[in-house]
Amino acid sequence: MKTLFDGGKAFKHIEKLAVDIGARPGGSPEDKRAAEYIKGYFEGLGLDVSLQEFEIETGYCTNQSLEITAPYKASISCSGLSMIGKTEPEGIEGELIHIETTDEEYLTPEITGKIVITNRLQRKNLDLVKKLKPLGFIFIEAYPRVLPKHFWGNYPQNKDYGNYPSMRISFEDGLKLLKKGASKARIVVEAERGKKKTQTIIAELKGSTHPDEIVLVGGHYDTVPNVRGASDNAGGTSIAMELARVFKEKGSKRTLRFIAWGSEEMGLDGSNLYAKKLKEEDKKAKEADKDKDAKTELDMVKLSVNLDVHGAMIGTNVASILGPPMLTHSIKLLSKEQGTVFDVKESVYSSDGTPLSAIGVPSASFSRKSGIDIMMHSVEDVIEYLSPDALALHGEFVETWMTRYVSEAAAFPFEKEIPEKLMKEIKDYYKAWKSPLP
Ligand SMILES: [Zn+2]
Repeated sequence: MKTLFDGGKAFKHIEKLAVDIGARPGGSPEDKRAAEYIKGYFEGLGLDVSLQEFEIETGYCTNQSLEITAPYKASISCSGLSMIGKTEPEGIEGELIHIETTDEEYLTPEITGKIVITNRLQRKNLDLVKKLKPLGFIFIEAYPRVLPKHFWGNYPQNKDYGNYPSMRISFEDGLKLLKKGASKARIVVEAERGKKKTQTIIAELKGSTHPDEIVLVGGHYDTVPNVRGASDNAGGTSIAMELARVFKEKGSKRTLRFIAWGSEEMGLDGSNLYAKKLKEEDKKAKEADKDKDAKTELDMVKLSVNLDVHGAMIGTNVASILGPPMLTHSIKLLSKEQGTVFDVKESVYSSDGTPLSAIGVPSASFSRKSGIDIMMHSVEDVIEYLSPDALALHGEFVETWMTRYVSEAAAFPFEKEIPEKLMKEIKDYYKAWKSPLP
């Protein structure tokens, strides 16, 4: 089967998003520029484009520093988390305490009034942290040889769990600080917070014979702060944009909605909202309408294809499925037939496919796994590691798979069901993030 997917064309979108525009955290001017670029591209293809706008609470650091003050003096480079806590310009000084993780076992009154050094804040334990009132947090990266990652430390649902000025430092700096027995530090995290508008971009190609069977194909276009996000996820966005061009040219029996999800990095905001609205409208329509046969939008959405983390020149292919066994098998079989190796698993992929599956829409999340993944969410997620060929390899596969089983299939092959075991995994995922199911 001849494919139309052009890796070079997709790569150009990455150049625009990750090089020209650069970091584009939700609600920033660059986020808006990226959205305009994507919207303009979809419109240029002649697709029916709409925006789903929404508000997010976000923040950015204006100043951050970490000074060890006893028993020796040192200055350590760090990345402040703007939304977990902030200080005045002079910062705060406190005793340091090291705990391996923020699991319940380690959260004891010993941390009260101290700056906690650890490598992860478990959101599920925020209530316990709130009771213990540590002074702040220093998070050590989990892996050596990566720069401190950039996050917000935003609280789930913007609920207030207290003010903990926090920052991330490298694995090497963490090691040094622990070896040398650092006992006191001064941390500065100056930050600004506020509500900002962002958006999800939706471009529809109406199905020629089965317009009421809808398949979503998308990737998030936002980034974490100060990170260009070439692989995560200008890569996935570029594949979705190129697939839109391909299917506009090929045509489709079923309706395809190409989506650039907004604010994924803050907590799957765009896709959570989209799923929530589908579910609410479905509920309202079914309550209001006596005619139970009338189809709602949610009834019509059959599948969600998600593309997140793509383009690594040196890498391998992964598909994570939340849906019926047939969906898993279709990718495994095509992988054998085409000779493009995919590691196909049935599990939650922490991205925009999951909210849809939480409301009963099967999802297939395609991604490119690579050694560069350890640099994800750091300033080293840059275009130099990516290649048009890697995009083409993956993009051609997804195009072929979609052509056979979605756009040209005589009957839609995948049942709309999420096996119980996978639904439990989805619920556990939301629980760990203290986030409500859509
Ligand atoms: Zn991503």
